[in-house]
Amino acid sequence: MKFYIMTLFPDMVLQGLNTSIIGRAMDKGILSIEAVNIRDYAFNKHNSVDDYPYGGGAGMLMQAEPVYQAYKAIEKKKTAEQSPRVICLSPQGRTFSQGMAEELAGEEELIFLCGHYEGIDERVLEEIVTDYVSIGDYILTGGELPAMIMVDAISRLVPGVLHNDVSAEFESFQDSLLEYPQYSRPEIWHDKKVPEVLLSGHHANIEKWRREQSVIRTARNRPDLLEKAALTEKEKELAEKFLQPEDNCDNI
Ligand code: SAM
Repeated sequence: MKFYIMTLFPDMVLQGLNTSIIGRAMDKGILSIEAVNIRDYAFNKHNSVDDYPYGGGAGMLMQAEPVYQAYKAIEKKKTAEQSPRVICLSPQGRTFSQGMAEELAGEEELIFLCGHYEGIDERVLEEIVTDYVSIGDYILTGGELPAMIMVDAISRLVPGVLHNDVSAEFESFQDSLLEYPQYSRPEIWHDKKVPEVLLSGHHANIEKWRREQSVIRTARNRPDLLEKAALTEKEKELAEKFLQPEDNCDNI
């Protein structure tokens, strides 16, 4: 899979992604990540790519032309028959989710557009962007971290990036449930013992325990997910027992 990331800070993006699992997948040629420096397409002698917004207001805006020319340069290189989707990282977009990562992992190529300053001139967005994606309801200084988060989440779903046995494992958000707690050696640590069932070797009991723990965890931490989870009547009763009284996190 090929990712193009349009950015004013190519080093930040490449250094962040070129390590560990994603870095290895790049070395193996399963993934390719190209950071396209929008500043290379500046059209004035000061090499600047931002200007004041019409109508006044605080901050600067990325100008349309350098972004457009950077996009045109990518279009010339693309290998897929269809034009790749162009994802603009924006706090005004749809919120990124595991479901969205799964859908995007099916694409051959993707282009990410990282804004900076107060954002990007609307006219170029209207011309090139196919999707607007936010990583949450807060404002960051730039789209680089959101793009890196998306590339990471999408990449691990691309066949061959993770070992097959690992990728098939249960993950949080699968079936709208959070993952169960996990333990490794030693059996006792700080007087805390690994749950007996996990040492039993009885696979059916282990699966049953893990499923119950997932239901309990989701009820405690993310009750909003339970609406979409396919639970048995027994599991619904179990979840009910562990629902917490409404907290005030939304008001922080
Ligand atoms: N003025 C913009 C607004 O109110 O919608 C915010 C601009 S923000 C300071 C600069 C850039 O950071 C944005 O263009 C976007 O690319 C990125 N960004 C900031 N927060 C983000 C978020 N929650 N999700 C995705 N991208 C974000």
